[in-house]
Amino acid sequence: MMNDPRYSGIGMTSARTRERLVQRLREQGITNLTVLDRVRNVPRHIFVDEALASRAYEDTALPIGFGQTISQPYIVARMTEALLEGGRLGKVLEIGTGCGYQTAVLAPLVGRIFTVERIEGLQQRAKARLRELQIRNVRFRHGDGSQGWKSQAPFDGILVAAAPLSVPEALIEQLAIGGRMIVPVGPEGQQQLVRITRREQGVERRVLGLVAFVPLVSGQT
Ligand code: SAH
Repeated sequence: MMNDPRYSGIGMTSARTRERLVQRLREQGITNLTVLDRVRNVPRHIFVDEALASRAYEDTALPIGFGQTISQPYIVARMTEALLEGGRLGKVLEIGTGCGYQTAVLAPLVGRIFTVERIEGLQQRAKARLRELQIRNVRFRHGDGSQGWKSQAPFDGILVAAAPLSVPEALIEQLAIGGRMIVPVGPEGQQQLVRITRREQGVERRVLGLVAFVPLVSGQT
């Protein structure tokens, strides 16, 4: 598949351009080689509008329509790395599928992903792209992710790509004992990326740093 020019890229989407992005992420402290490999190999340019393809390997968020953005590669790498730290993950819940880029980066590194998006148009496009990339261990759902995906719980990992003001109780309840959740928390302008680990007696909380995400919105469109 990587020999298909549509995925391997040319010019601003070429292997050399991607390698520069990987180098930059290394300099910013991403050390997990499997994660860096996914950044190198997932064709981010097919997840953005064609007009923006030449900017797909810049370390920046880009518009994906419906007032939403594809996350910055550094953030995707950081969240993936933080989620994977601590051992293999079977079932993972992702909230905020967006264009599906984060899903594509994570999919081969875990057992299965259950991903929820509240904007149906984005969900449909993400589904089509992942099918195109022959990623098959993902189930999609259109709905309000703050309620999680109860029938599939418990999850070994939960990754939230939009920021709630406080971590929804439903998500903590759907985390397996020993499972971990990576979630940006707080109002716009002062969000912190937090790792929550569920223990027999309550949860452990660790702040990973400052971030900027779109808010987690309740209800679906
Ligand atoms: N990781 C994504 C980034 C998505 S941006 C990517 O790589 O493209 C955050 C996404 O969360 C948006 O698509 C937004 O519609 C979605 N979102 C916001 N609130 C939500 C909610 N309550 N449930 C599900 N999705 C939500």
